[in-house]
Amino acid sequence: MPRGNQERENYLDLLERLKTYFPVPVSNPIMDGYFIHTISHFLDRVDDLKSAAPILGHSREEHYHAILEEAFPEDMSNVEEVTELLVNYCQGMPIWGHPNAQVNVVPPTTIPSITAFIAAAIYNPNIIWDAYSGHFTEAEIKAVAMLSDLIGYDSRRSGGLFTFGGTGTILYGVKLALEKLFDGKVMEEGLREDVKIVASDTSHYSRLNVAGWLGLGMKNLVTIPTTRDNEMNLIDLEDYLRQAFSQGEKVAAIIATLGTTDAFGIDDLNAIVRLRDHLAEEYNLSRPPHVHADAVIGWAWAVFRDYDFEANSLGFRARTLRSLQDSLKRLSNLALADSTGVDFHKTGYAPYISSAFLVRDRKDLTLLSREPEQMPYLYHFGYYHPGIYTLECSRAGTGALAAYANMRLLGKQGYRILIGHVVEMAEMLRERLENYPFIQVLNDFNYGPVTLFRVYPDDVNAAQALQRELSDPAYRDQVEKHNDYNFRIFQTIHERAMRGEGVWLSRTDAYRHADYDGVPGPPIAALKSFILSPWTDLAAVDTVARQVLEAREQVDGLK
Ligand SMILES: *Cc1c(COP(=O)(O)O)cnc(C)c1O
Repeated sequence: MPRGNQERENYLDLLERLKTYFPVPVSNPIMDGYFIHTISHFLDRVDDLKSAAPILGHSREEHYHAILEEAFPEDMSNVEEVTELLVNYCQGMPIWGHPNAQVNVVPPTTIPSITAFIAAAIYNPNIIWDAYSGHFTEAEIKAVAMLSDLIGYDSRRSGGLFTFGGTGTILYGVKLALEKLFDGKVMEEGLREDVKIVASDTSHYSRLNVAGWLGLGMKNLVTIPTTRDNEMNLIDLEDYLRQAFSQGEKVAAIIATLGTTDAFGIDDLNAIVRLRDHLAEEYNLSRPPHVHADAVIGWAWAVFRDYDFEANSLGFRARTLRSLQDSLKRLSNLALADSTGVDFHKTGYAPYISSAFLVRDRKDLTLLSREPEQMPYLYHFGYYHPGIYTLECSRAGTGALAAYANMRLLGKQGYRILIGHVVEMAEMLRERLENYPFIQVLNDFNYGPVTLFRVYPDDVNAAQALQRELSDPAYRDQVEKHNDYNFRIFQTIHERAMRGEGVWLSRTDAYRHADYDGVPGPPIAALKSFILSPWTDLAAVDTVARQVLEAREQVDGLK
């Protein structure tokens, strides 16, 4: 017996009701009013979930078991009921813009970038080609040109596209590298031999996804150790490459990370590219490795390439200027990379997902074309058919339009203010934490919006302890003990933050591993403050320092 509404009702009558579930396709101010009312009511209801805490409502406590039996509904519901349901699903969301949210590299989103998402949600472009996407494709082409201009690619030669995340940008970079190595034959014939890709040990784990999913195999990922500053050790890189080339091993790509996720470590792209060129000549390589810059976090620093640090018209503190200039030394020449990844959903202040993959030479993209005889960029002006070379078939117009909106909205000036401010607040936090002998700031040479620090018990000298933790096998037990200590401090702080009494921090299980003369030791955990909100101010920074002290007292009291 079918359940549900047994009354006889002609479908056409129901269809009339159902039509009110959609925006009206022709101009209809009354029904548009209903649409706007629905959204504004939704916003009001979500607003009710706000409190002093940097979270909407409450986080989920019960298990997911109970919801596994959710059945497909029999009858239609209505817009009001479902809107009410949706409100509930915002519960537990961190409010990224809250001054007390210092959780991770997740930004609050600007109003125009949200509007761009709404525009794409209502009109539903698919930027597989321009016939299905109006001028949304133009936004993608312009956004790629603007980003090329920002980082220093020649936008008459460069190319790019928006894809499914930072992982997608690395996937495109490595795929391109493989096709370059084998003259575009991998697409047709598959990968027939072992080929290596190289990245540092603090690069993002998506390198593993990419190696696995592209069929390279994770075992063909060569991981180069990093220095204490979390950047790829160039001596190790050179040793590896020399050994590989002299044995005839094929290296498709070197992934340089410009802004690591945990510590904002920045690889020396300039030196990596020079090394690649030099060795290519020395070993007579006809297909030298492709260099992909994973700048999904660091790209935004490029807005300071032409900031006058002497005049400092924006009035940043000296400490902030030093930090920005240090980062910029590495981030001002992204154009040296053969391809680059940019995430607007990280340091670009746009909603998920907004990721751009850029290539210095757009002709490279033809290597990804599934119909090589049709050169996608040789289409006549006004005809854009990226679906020929993108991995995706359906591709949302949201990311490109949101990125475009933010670049127009903020310009270099706006991004300088946002990035400058979050770096300034992070610097103020580091200045405060450095005052305490039992706190060690861990990324003290990687200046960015993220601060990793480790807290120690009273009887321990933090600086000395960290040195031993990083290198002394006899100190292994202490590493684990201190990891646990930091975890308890984290939990104490977290419980308070959820009650609206402090800042929401995060932690990392392994900011790096101990290194016992080349043998990896245990992971070293850390507390993490990632500041991205323009609302984070000195009061929020002071709160972090104060609550660490209080949590430490509380944890010590429990011993
Ligand atoms: C976040 C991140 C990635 C992965 O990007 P997604 O957008 O999460 O797929 C890659 N590299 C770095 C350095 C990252 O921080």
